[in-house]
Amino acid sequence: MPVSLPMAEPPKPMVHCLDCARCCTYVAVGINAPTRPKHATEILWFLYHDKTSVYVDGDGEWCVQFESRCRNLQPDNLCAIYGVRPHICRTFDENTCEVNSQEGTSHTFRSPEEFLVYLQQHYPRVYRQIERTHTVAEHRPKAAAKG
Ligand code: SF4
Ligand code: SF4
Repeated sequence: MPVSLPMAEPPKPMVHCLDCARCCTYVAVGINAPTRPKHATEILWFLYHDKTSVYVDGDGEWCVQFESRCRNLQPDNLCAIYGVRPHICRTFDENTCEVNSQEGTSHTFRSPEEFLVYLQQHYPRVYRQIERTHTVAEHRPKAAAKG
């Protein structure tokens, strides 16, 4: 009987900035990892807000991300102030950015539910410390929501 060999995933097609402009449609700011109850409830607070997500990248850096289009982004995806754009904009690189990264090791949370599942698995002590005092039952992981 023929045995099928595992197939390597084909590389994702390259996306170019002028077809994308994703970097110019949000603001991301570094935050504390949820190693303490205070930091974990800050992340819940972020996630209670509309158009706000939190992610941890492959290096373990945590960020909050607000969806907000830059006022300088033109309809053709060109920057209206390109020659004098801020330093951070000059670090955007289509070869290493989130859209073209082949690694896919970051983890994004778009809701308190998603974050609490992760917290329970990766920071169980912190999860137990905030479960009763800072979370609502409907946001808790299914097994923990009872009682
Ligand atoms: S750097 Fe990447 S995410 Fe940003 S606009 Fe270019 S292709 Fe899109
Ligand atoms: S200033 Fe220009 S490059 Fe920077 S985020 Fe705005 S549109 Fe994008």
